[in-house]
Amino acid sequence: MAEKQVDVMEKIVSLCKRRGFVFPSSEIYGGFAAVYDFGPYGVELAKNIREIWWKYMVQLREDIVGLDSAIFMHPKIWEASGHVAGFSDPLAECKNCHTRVRVDHLLEEIGVLADEKMTEAQINMLLVENKEKILCPKCGKRDFTEAKSFNLLVQSNLGNFTGDWTKEPTYLRGETCQGIYVNYKNVLDSSRVKVPFGIAQIGKAFRNEITARQFIFRTRELEQMEMQYFTKPEMEMDEYEKLRAYRWQFYLDMGIKEGHLRWHKHENLVFYAKEAYDIEYEFPFGFKELEGVHARGDYDLTQHAKFSGVSLDYLDPVSNEKYVPHIIESSVGVGRMFLAFLTEAYREEALEGGDTRIVLKLPKKLAPVKVAVFPLMKNKPELVAKAKEVFDALKGDFMCEFDDNGNVGKRYRRQDEIGTPYCVTVDFDSLEDGAVTVRDRDSMQQERIKIDALYGYLQGKF
Ligand code: ATP
Repeated sequence: MAEKQVDVMEKIVSLCKRRGFVFPSSEIYGGFAAVYDFGPYGVELAKNIREIWWKYMVQLREDIVGLDSAIFMHPKIWEASGHVAGFSDPLAECKNCHTRVRVDHLLEEIGVLADEKMTEAQINMLLVENKEKILCPKCGKRDFTEAKSFNLLVQSNLGNFTGDWTKEPTYLRGETCQGIYVNYKNVLDSSRVKVPFGIAQIGKAFRNEITARQFIFRTRELEQMEMQYFTKPEMEMDEYEKLRAYRWQFYLDMGIKEGHLRWHKHENLVFYAKEAYDIEYEFPFGFKELEGVHARGDYDLTQHAKFSGVSLDYLDPVSNEKYVPHIIESSVGVGRMFLAFLTEAYREEALEGGDTRIVLKLPKKLAPVKVAVFPLMKNKPELVAKAKEVFDALKGDFMCEFDDNGNVGKRYRRQDEIGTPYCVTVDFDSLEDGAVTVRDRDSMQQERIKIDALYGYLQGKF
């Protein structure tokens, strides 16, 4: 990884902590690996990400409806889906420092194609062939144990009151889409949807990820935004191309530069998949998967019909044709999108007079705080009262922050760092002319706007 890029990643991690976007979980107890908490601004950004995704995937689509299925489900679901037998990554241990590593990732780093679909034997062959090139990321030695498949499902004793629940565990879901597949018939029978249609869901998922690196890019507790689209078999690939184009455009609409995105085609497909592409984003540590857009055939519904004994056939109300719908999906993590948007937005800009500023140039709709309101001085009650009035008039419709700490310059810097698009300052002239200064985050231009017109002015901006 280039030094400059490592630097950017460190700066983003540090900004996240300093400004209350992301905190390591259980920090006062020494942390809890690969789990993170969203702080006051992080929770706003994550909420905005969920909302914009929902808007694109449900609100703007008359063919897609929403769902919120429970985290816990019948354990047989995870057998039917193949997760109990095959949701695993190849794990090896450094014989020197006992660090556990994901072998497919270490191989990938030296340019050797490897993935979770390979057998243990195939992975071990690659490990032996490339022994000299693969270094332990912690101690730098080249001596690993054999790779073993490690299942990523997180188990629990929910509903099991015996001492040996591990024999019949329940699972914290490893992905949210299984809740969609098993509700496909409920949605079909209770709403007006007809094939082709989609079901979208946002929710937590859990994976016992082997490596706990790269900040919120890969976490053990994660939140997924997934949409599963049910199609007529012969329409699957046409719909797939449409979904790929739609998801690509989403990122461009969110202000991501096209050059920072690329498609990655899966070469080694799982046996049932028709085609699989990932949208990769250029994170500070290189191009990595941001979102999966996959054509899954009829595998999911066929498996659940087989394991549950319930037919999941679709009867076309017009043609009377009966078939198992094929599924195409879009799947992305909230945390991964959060990191991509922060990476894209992070800037260090040189200012006149040799100063620099850190600014998050987030699209306005994603910014955690939309408007910051300042009284010029905090020890002048008349200014504070007027600023409070302005704040109260706006807060119902814009996420606002009242800030009277330090001087105005310092407040601008703080708001720039959290990406606030507009800062409104109430000064002594405001008491006379009923106008305030509105400062734009990106251009840093200031405008005098009448307080009466401020609401309309801001509405026009968002
Ligand atoms: P990877 O190869 O990075 O482990 P995956 O191929 O296992 O990911 P999927 O199972 O296809 O990922 O999950 C769909 C999406 O969910 C990913 O594109 C990513 O955005 C998100 N995601 C998956 N695993 C994690 C994780 N551990 N932490 C954060 N986000 C994740």
